[in-house]
Amino acid sequence: MSTWLYLKCLDHDPELWADSESGQHLYDLPDIRADIANRDVLVAAAKAYAWPSEHFRANTVRFLVSHPKCRIGIGDEYGHEHPVTAAGTQQPTERTKP
Ligand SMILES: [Zn+2]
Repeated sequence: MSTWLYLKCLDHDPELWADSESGQHLYDLPDIRADIANRDVLVAAAKAYAWPSEHFRANTVRFLVSHPKCRIGIGDEYGHEHPVTAAGTQQPTERTKP
């Protein structure tokens, strides 16, 4: 069973969904999350015409180029929300010191 995954911009009201899918299965989520985490690098590369060759990743980067500073979310074709970071983990920058 496939689950089409889309990026969405949370800074638009209502939130703006990508026209093109960023993944077809839930196991694509780690790749999508990695691309969102590397947004600055991927956007800079795309602007230097180094577009990703992989279909889903190219769709992801195309959306990120259009929304370079916006808060980004991940939704699927059923309207479900998926966390942008892996569940239960915190970003290193948010980790509190012992
Ligand atoms: Zn946006």
